[in-house]
Amino acid sequence: VKYCLQCATPVDWLVPAGDHLPRHVCPGCGYIHYVNPRMIVGCIVAWQDQVLLCRRAIDPRAGFWTVPAGFMENNETAAQGAARETLEEANAHVEIESLYAVLSLPHVSQVYLLFKGQLREPIFGPSPESLEVKLFHQHQIPWDNMAFASVRRALQSYFDDRARDQFPTRYHDIVLTGERF
Ligand SMILES: [Zn+2]
Repeated sequence: VKYCLQCATPVDWLVPAGDHLPRHVCPGCGYIHYVNPRMIVGCIVAWQDQVLLCRRAIDPRAGFWTVPAGFMENNETAAQGAARETLEEANAHVEIESLYAVLSLPHVSQVYLLFKGQLREPIFGPSPESLEVKLFHQHQIPWDNMAFASVRRALQSYFDDRARDQFPTRYHDIVLTGERF
């Protein structure tokens, strides 16, 4: 933020009275520009014993694999957002079953809410955001070409839980040192 979003005055960088962190503060109108973590919503989508993955068409991590996920929009529920991302990125209609994983990523100031769900029918395909969309058996998952450590971690616990046929909601801190993804 360089200019106040309210009145376009150049902003200062200081700790507001009563706060404990520096913020961009407008010296003209007093508006404080808070920046807080963003929410990513997505889904581990199953069809029988396979899982749907998308190969990213866009940066970051173009060419690498992930589950359908993206920034939550205003005025939607988290589950609606996960289904919307699945439709946008994989051209697939998913029946959301339950919240499966909450992942906290302090290095990028993001929180992931990943649901689990089932394809309503085995129909899916690429999109402007995905070069390829495919179903994978567990032994076919491209672990070394996953886009994000967070999604890799969630998928690993998903297969562990599937082996036990129990899917409690999992919480993972993803703390990366020296790596961005
Ligand atoms: Zn202002």
